[in-house]
Amino acid sequence: MSTPTYVVGVVLALVALATVLATPFLLVHSRTEHDHGPGCWWCHPRLLPRKRR
Ligand SMILES: [Zn+2]
Repeated sequence: MSTPTYVVGVVLALVALATVLATPFLLVHSRTEHDHGPGCWWCHPRLLPRKRR
């Protein structure tokens, strides 16, 4: 009974941690005005990157 609850708790903790870690990066990235180039996945989001060097 406790295992599913533990798994859900771990997943939520990881998601929350990832959000906390990604927020500063997102803010800094949004404040930078220089072009990151076509390779920047954030400026050019690619859900399915086919071409992987
Ligand atoms: Zn970028």
